[in-house]
Amino acid sequence: MANNWFPVIDYEKCVGCFACANFCPHGVFSTDGDKPEVVNPLACVEFCRGCQKICPQDAISYYGDGQK
Ligand code: SF4
Ligand code: SF4
Repeated sequence: MANNWFPVIDYEKCVGCFACANFCPHGVFSTDGDKPEVVNPLACVEFCRGCQKICPQDAISYYGDGQK
């Protein structure tokens, strides 16, 4: 559980491929609608970057990344 680390989608870059949502085993993203939304940020695993690595658009950054 992480309330200091969760993905943030840049919708200017996101193409709605849902690779992130399909990849994440923790249900952080919604899978309905045109593009995923971060609906369960507390389920994100702190310092995991799995969805960022898999995103073909480099559209995912993290709340908490680079913050103190
Ligand atoms: S993997 Fe990237 S481009 Fe695809 S839906 Fe997720 S954020 Fe959007
Ligand atoms: S960082 Fe990891 S746990 Fe968090 S949403 Fe992405 S794949 Fe899921």
